Amino acid sequence: MTGEPLRLMAVHAHPDDESSKGAATTARYAAEGVEVLVVTCTGGERGDVLNPSFEVPTGHEFESVEGKRAVRRLEMAAAADALGVRQTWLGFVDSGLPEGDPLPPLPEGCFALLPLEEASAPLVELVREFRPHVMTTYDPSGGYPHPDHIRCHEVAFEAYHAAGDAGRYVVDGGAEPWAPLKLYYNHGFSMARLRAAHEAMEGAGLESPFGDWIESRAAREIPERTATTSVDVAAYFPQRDAALTAHASQIDPEGFFFAVPRDLEADVWPTEEFELADARVPTTTPEDDLFAGIRKES
Ligand SMILES: [Zn+2]
Repeated sequence: MTGEPLRLMAVHAHPDDESSKGAATTARYAAEGVEVLVVTCTGGERGDVLNPSFEVPTGHEFESVEGKRAVRRLEMAAAADALGVRQTWLGFVDSGLPEGDPLPPLPEGCFALLPLEEASAPLVELVREFRPHVMTTYDPSGGYPHPDHIRCHEVAFEAYHAAGDAGRYVVDGGAEPWAPLKLYYNHGFSMARLRAAHEAMEGAGLESPFGDWIESRAAREIPERTATTSVDVAAYFPQRDAALTAHASQIDPEGFFFAVPRDLEADVWPTEEFELADARVPTTTPEDDLFAGIRKES
């Protein structure tokens, strides 16, 4: 690399996902001078209020799709500030999490129902404009089975592979092709991490909220994916926490995300994990840096 700044693009499905998956990593890289752009595919217009202490901001409502979109834009701006990153929207509409048996159909026009090429085109263009060296997103399962999370993986995967190809996604007056050098999947709550937090809390004589979760995940026998890259980010947990609480409609400050005392968390699990999905530069795993193999000195 020449002297140009490193750039990281983190692609997420909804506002708040950037604060619950890899948030401290983006805060750390931004603080170190990396240009960080969070891309949010949908407006989160179909999220319910998940925080019992949430109060709708004055002059807003949280009933209609438009009302939710407006409130969640305010929350997202505050979260991006807390992380010290830039953020932009792809402008798609939240598909919602279908519930019931049988599952209801997804709402017309939502992100998950669009043809892949139509859903990917704005991200391909954004990759060509921002020119990230590294992209992060979810694994093919979405990390959890929300249709927008699976779709988020699909469009990020597509953009990573297509943006460098001048023959694909051709736009009149569009930016030059750009091929990012590495693609990662977020590893949020691995079983190893849950168990470590659970054991540390019980060891400290605290009540752990993770027991049932660990049991139900173990019972479902979800195959664990393998993290390749651990980034030391404990110093940026305060920024992550500020970003989480900025999403006041979604994140309960008394809830699960804040269950582990922070000194304990920094002690037993000071890192965030990622899985290297593709690299166009030589690198050796395990890694402790998303830019390993890209930095001039490495
Ligand atoms: Zn989400």
